[in-house]
Amino acid sequence: MAETVTSTTASVGAASPTGRKALAFDRIGMVFPDGTEALRDISFGVERGEFVTIVGPSGCGKSTLLKIASGLVTNTSGSVQVDRERIGYVFQDATLLQWRTVQANVELFAELHGLGKSERRRLASEAIELVGLSGFENHYPKSLSGGMKMRASLARTLTLRPPVFLFDEPFGAVDEITREHLNDETQQLFQREGFAGLFITHSISEAVFMSTRVLVMSARPGRIVAEFDVPFEYPRVPDLRFDPDFAHLAGEVSHALRGGHS
Ligand code: ADP
Repeated sequence: MAETVTSTTASVGAASPTGRKALAFDRIGMVFPDGTEALRDISFGVERGEFVTIVGPSGCGKSTLLKIASGLVTNTSGSVQVDRERIGYVFQDATLLQWRTVQANVELFAELHGLGKSERRRLASEAIELVGLSGFENHYPKSLSGGMKMRASLARTLTLRPPVFLFDEPFGAVDEITREHLNDETQQLFQREGFAGLFITHSISEAVFMSTRVLVMSARPGRIVAEFDVPFEYPRVPDLRFDPDFAHLAGEVSHALRGGHS
């Protein structure tokens, strides 16, 4: 069975309110060796079936927080509780291997996890269908649009069926319409797979559209300064973006981002 990693300088106690989450940050702080304080006293948890989005100004420590969750960076105070063997991580750059076809790229993680050929074929084909790339299995990355590359990247991670999915601004580089399509598809995947999602974005609309909860971070050192539950039912239809309640909530998030109070 996969190990649950608790990186500590202070452990998550049995009585902690975040103790049973798929992902839990408890009083996380991060000071880099050069003295840069990136994060201060971050505590929150994400359960399976929750999609939490963090919005915050550039440089406030959002990527650092995801890197701490995945173990790429070690926090200098507090603790994180997560099963690191089973984290899905999607970056802004699709990081596809140019010499591999879509099918072979999507099979890569399953291959690295040592799954047999027929099993990884099956998992990859299913994931390719889920992200709407059927018919492009034999294409190479250079012939794909930016949105299609991101779909392939998502599919590659989906083959692992991760219970915890980290998204580091994955749709920041695509045009607005493609981004909305990818948002629609991501929330459908979330609904179907029920993972614990932690998503980073600069787009308030993207945050409110996909999430069950939106957290707002302050400028560096990043702290959580506001939290909003998003009440809209799934599946969320594209026209939700024009709903007055949606606009109202997006306005509140925007206000908090600008330093107001929620
Ligand atoms: P965001 O994702 O919110 O834009 P980052 O997490 O990338 O912010 O960075 C947070 C802050 O930490 C920034 O000021 C950045 O320059 C700094 N930082 C990131 N990595 C390092 C590092 N390895 N050493 C020193 N400072 C760093």
